[in-house]
Amino acid sequence: MRIGGLNKFSLSDFPGRTAAVAFTQGCNFRCPYCHNGSLISADVFEFCLIPEEEFFEILQSRNKRLDGVVVTGGEPTIQADLPEFLARIKSEGFLVKLDTNGSQPHVLRAVLQDGLVDFIAMDVKAPLRIYDRLTGVRTPTSQILESIELIARSKVIHEFRTTVVKALLSPRDIDSIGKLIPSGSAHRLQKFCPQHALDPALRTRAKEH
Ligand code: SF4
Repeated sequence: MRIGGLNKFSLSDFPGRTAAVAFTQGCNFRCPYCHNGSLISADVFEFCLIPEEEFFEILQSRNKRLDGVVVTGGEPTIQADLPEFLARIKSEGFLVKLDTNGSQPHVLRAVLQDGLVDFIAMDVKAPLRIYDRLTGVRTPTSQILESIELIARSKVIHEFRTTVVKALLSPRDIDSIGKLIPSGSAHRLQKFCPQHALDPALRTRAKEH
């Protein structure tokens, strides 16, 4: 697993749990508002990555203080060994929260079926007609819809999240996103943090308001 960063202790990333946060390296989206730009490219020098063994040693050294691990990105589901990584975290006694952009429903199906996640959070970034604008890449929205359905139908605790970027999403767009969320599933609106946005224009425009 390519791990680009680690927060050894968080009270806010895994609802109701203490957790370490593993930031996986590499993402298939280029969201203009992304504030984790350093995690987007998968092609970073190996010495910038945290070796998996070191990651698990750190976890074990803190196992009395941690309930779980949040696996976030980047985008964790584009890494081929994600299922094995999650299985090992669970076998070492930790709960798993997975954050995803929903682009790989086949991976989500596999990890849900195998009981490898205890909480899953998926970004629903935009109404379908303008999804590409918010991801910065051509995005097959059928895959986004498939992931939403899979997660909503699973028995796993979950939430859908939308980052409210006023320069890119109107109130009407936010309403349209809400309609994509199945009834019974939580939908959380997140504040946009402009300081480190991938698109420099968003940093500037945020300062103007
Ligand atoms: S905000 Fe977008 S580009 Fe950034 S890590 Fe998430 S999905 Fe990838």
